[in-house]
Amino acid sequence: MDSLKLRCCSVAGCDLPPLCYNESMRNNDLTPEEKEVIENKGTEMPFSGEYYNFFREGTYTCRRCNAPLYESSGKFHSGCGWPSFDEEIPGAVKHVPDPDGLRTEIICANCGAHLGHVFTGEKFTETDTRHCVNSLSIRFIPKEERHNERS
Ligand SMILES: [Zn+2]
Repeated sequence: MDSLKLRCCSVAGCDLPPLCYNESMRNNDLTPEEKEVIENKGTEMPFSGEYYNFFREGTYTCRRCNAPLYESSGKFHSGCGWPSFDEEIPGAVKHVPDPDGLRTEIICANCGAHLGHVFTGEKFTETDTRHCVNSLSIRFIPKEERHNERS
């Protein structure tokens, strides 16, 4: 992908969170199910994803490019059937209005992977924002592992 650049916390002036990614300059290989969601903007079945009912402490990264997208502190139980977050890591997620003007798509700011949609005005949490994310678009990195990676 032409737009993909190496970006890392060690680069001077980089404003991204302190977790390096894309070191190999290539994206992760995806399964057909992941491709359907990430590249064809599909939606996994509700209540089926591995992170729907999952609340451990750590970071959620883009399954395609490993960019950190959400912290577990922003995850909440909405009952909607998909992982829900009330805030993204600043700058990690792009908001793109759907062509029909009804919903707002969210994509990885680094590689453009489809994540899901964002909704506001539902009053679930203080930020009044619900990022409805497909489990297939993200990968959970436990806090301990991330710590080890940063040696
Ligand atoms: Zn990505």
